[in-house]
Amino acid sequence: MTDWPELERKYFMHTIKRLPLTLVRGQGARVWDDHGKEYLDFVGGWAVNSLGHCHPILVQALTEQAKTLIQASNQFYTVPQIRLAELLVQHSCFDKVFFCNSGAEANEGAVKLARRFGKLHLQGAFEVITTFNSFHGRTLAMVAATGQKKFQEPYTPLPGGFVNVDYDRIEAIEEATTSQTCAVMLEPIQAEGGINVPSDGYLGQVRDWCDQKGILLILDEIQTGMGRIGTLFGYQQYGFEPDIMTLAKGLASGVPIGVIMARNKADVFQPGEHGSTFGGNPLACAAAYATLKYIVDNDIPGSADRVGRYLSTRLEALRSRFDFIVDVRGRGLLKAMEFSSDMADSVLMACLDRGLLVNRVKPNTLRFIPPLIIGEAEVDQAMGILEQVLAGVGEASG
Ligand SMILES: *Cc1c(COP(=O)(O)O)cnc(C)c1O
Repeated sequence: MTDWPELERKYFMHTIKRLPLTLVRGQGARVWDDHGKEYLDFVGGWAVNSLGHCHPILVQALTEQAKTLIQASNQFYTVPQIRLAELLVQHSCFDKVFFCNSGAEANEGAVKLARRFGKLHLQGAFEVITTFNSFHGRTLAMVAATGQKKFQEPYTPLPGGFVNVDYDRIEAIEEATTSQTCAVMLEPIQAEGGINVPSDGYLGQVRDWCDQKGILLILDEIQTGMGRIGTLFGYQQYGFEPDIMTLAKGLASGVPIGVIMARNKADVFQPGEHGSTFGGNPLACAAAYATLKYIVDNDIPGSADRVGRYLSTRLEALRSRFDFIVDVRGRGLLKAMEFSSDMADSVLMACLDRGLLVNRVKPNTLRFIPPLIIGEAEVDQAMGILEQVLAGVGEASG
């Protein structure tokens, strides 16, 4: 049998420490490794596989599009991207879209858009306020936007024009705002930063502050969007509307895509000012259209909310049983469990062993980001495995 890890060691730049597992197939919320072992997938490609693995709707859309038209340059109109744009606008507060290929690229574009707005309407203001523990992507500018030392330090000096401040503290944004500020960029829940849910009212306060100063509010919904936290977009449950929103991860259920959405007010790019070769690629847009249509038609956000609440009660039950669990948090199917010590890796490895994939978001915190189509039965199975693992840990440490 081929030793895939050996070949990987030989050929790859080592940007990530992989888990000892080669995945070859997926179906629904399940994946299989190259030895035929089955796993329940509570990672979902990092909150990407919204409809699970190889959903028939997605496979059909991809197959049909692959037989029809895979790529054409953006000099031409193509149908899938226009249909997708219309559906996105119909189901959100935004008026206009720009398609690209990833989350980082969408955020880069959103910042460029805000800078254009600054030049046109704010006397050249260019600075974007972002928060500590945020995550906005891995390009050089998005590393500067991402308020985490571990992503920034290897690459200094970083591009200018970003100010990192405390999350969930409106005064921090107020204090950092100057005549150079053109926008504030935030996640409605900090996801990679550890599933940090802001206090009620914070996002509304940021909205009010941006209105008062005439600056833009960019919401990074790359992880929270597409039903993940129980509404199609996260902002819909916080009672405010951003000026610009970015999506990527779950938008096409596994096919790479990103989008910048803007309200008319922030629609300020002129022809030639921004672009992308693959952005709006017919294959990716057909996948995203099928995904979004399925999510809307089948009230998948409602289901993520319900199943997410059930997951919370199961996680809370574990917390009351094991005193080394110090917190359970999140919304919808974006959940975290925090431990009193750095034991997330050992719990994760024991879960792997028993056929459950979970994600370690911090050394002491696990993240649960399953496909949005899971039901209570899958939650029961996952929580059964997790409980056995935690009982083993409890015995070992007690
Ligand atoms: C994953 C993520 C990104 C980066 O997306 P990539 O597709 O990896 O570039 C940006 N923002 C948030 C909130 C994310 O979760």
